[in-house]
Amino acid sequence: MTTYQSPWMDEDLEIFRTAASRFVETEMVPYDEGWREQKYIDREFWRKAGKNGFLCTDIPDEYGGGGGDFRHEAVFFEEQWRRGLSGLGQGVHSIVANYLLHHGTEEQKKRWLPEMAKGQLIAAIAMTEPGTGSDLKGIKTRAVRDGDDYVINGSKLFITNGYVSELLALVVCTDPGAGSKALSIVMMETRNLDGFKVGRILNKMGQKSQDTCELFFDDMRVPQENLLGGAEGQGFAQLMADLPYERTQVGVQSVAMMEGAISETVDYVKQREAFGAPLFNLQNTRFRLAEAKINTQVARVFLDHCIQNVARGELDNATAAMCKYWTSEQLQQVLDICLQMHGGYGYMEEYLICRMYADARVARIYAGTSEIMLEVVARSL
Ligand SMILES: Cc1cc2nc3c(=O)[nH]c(=O)nc-3n(C[C@H](O)[C@H](O)[C@H](O)COP(=O)(O)OP(=O)(O)OC[C@H]3O[C@@H](n4cnc5c(N)ncnc54)[C@H](O)[C@@H]3O)c2cc1C
Repeated sequence: MTTYQSPWMDEDLEIFRTAASRFVETEMVPYDEGWREQKYIDREFWRKAGKNGFLCTDIPDEYGGGGGDFRHEAVFFEEQWRRGLSGLGQGVHSIVANYLLHHGTEEQKKRWLPEMAKGQLIAAIAMTEPGTGSDLKGIKTRAVRDGDDYVINGSKLFITNGYVSELLALVVCTDPGAGSKALSIVMMETRNLDGFKVGRILNKMGQKSQDTCELFFDDMRVPQENLLGGAEGQGFAQLMADLPYERTQVGVQSVAMMEGAISETVDYVKQREAFGAPLFNLQNTRFRLAEAKINTQVARVFLDHCIQNVARGELDNATAAMCKYWTSEQLQQVLDICLQMHGGYGYMEEYLICRMYADARVARIYAGTSEIMLEVVARSL
């Protein structure tokens, strides 16, 4: 046993962790298989999570949130991801809440945040398009002013929460010739919205209970008052401002998965026997798991530094990129070791380690690829 404790945990957070852990065990674990089969988590679950105080935990209570900070978000994330529960798009829901908090008008905050905290409005972010992902400046979805509305045409791809979402932070081009001022974010309530269509839920390698979708906009009208912050051309800056938050979320997922996978694997190799003794007695097993533990612990200490800084609103972009890069890359190595220790069982979907292995691969891709993280860090040198 190592004695390391995350320095950001305190007595209140321990109480919150106990409640989160109980909620995850009783309200999520038993339903995960069904959610994976249907490829999404029911809206009713979101309402339940909201009612129990697990959504928008870092949004001030005056807007209906939990009045905590990023540490509360991290706790709820950890309790899910260490158990291999990867379907709840809590991350994007919270990112949208933070966009609203940091960039929305007072009216926009009051209108949407309380409903999001209750789980009555599930949020998604739509940036990526079939023709552009890493290079956001290539976004083609166009919003044109017409009276008091924007008329929007285009499509988005790979949108987390795409099927269940009811509030979309849609990144659009409002002025194609304006360089970094070309983009804006329009908040759209999707219920019964003419011109809005959700494509099928995409078949993914992992994260099977997460509804990742394609979305289509055909002469869709959204009131001009839904423009995030009320001024055009701010989209790129608004997205950039919250990147450390988003990238640290991936760090939290990654380290929680590593910790969960090691704990699962240590239990497995202690009871599985080969050549008349537990696998754990073999030096190769012990050394590979020791390596996995060391790499996870190093990632944990760095992540904890980042969690504290995000909670204080002080994490810079380059450090957040280092965190996302390091933790998501380590995750692949650690899960490979853990899966190998399970032998053929590790390749079977009913085994947690198999699902985690498949879930983990995208951590190097979404929220900015590993290559983009290297680019961000390189620019800071
Ligand atoms: C499961 C899942 C969920 C997602 N959820 C969302 C969501 O909720 N909202 C949303 O908007 N998007 C979402 N995405 C999209 C995701 O953010 C993009 O897939 C990602 O940003 C990469 O874009 P791309 O797929 O177009 O790849 P590309 O940009 O085409 O990149 C392809 C390859 O080229 C490399 N590359 C690109 N540019 C450079 C460069 N300058 N230097 C070096 N290498 C480079 C990349 O690193 C990558 O290896 C999701 C994706 C997945 C798979």
